[in-house]
Amino acid sequence: MSLYAKCWLFTTWFLILFFSFPFWISFLEQRFGPTGVLIGGGFWLSHGIFMMLVFRCPNCGLTPFRSSKDFMAWYYPWPRKICGHCGRDHRAVEDRSAR
Ligand SMILES: [Zn+2]
Repeated sequence: MSLYAKCWLFTTWFLILFFSFPFWISFLEQRFGPTGVLIGGGFWLSHGIFMMLVFRCPNCGLTPFRSSKDFMAWYYPWPRKICGHCGRDHRAVEDRSAR
């Protein structure tokens, strides 16, 4: 599976979570009170961090959700097809050296 496909799988999951947010956050609040909201918020934030740390260009390490390695860079909610730094095609199926 290509990095691009993996990123889209994660983005789909992220969108499902996003639209079901009112349901699971109220469930957590009923179950655990204000702590539940904190748990939900932490769960949500961890997804953003996960997104930036796990999905990386095998050549240069730039996440496909970011436009370039510059200080002023855009973040996208969906992955880029081509790496913004080294120009690698993320749609290409990875070889064995790049996990
Ligand atoms: Zn790259």
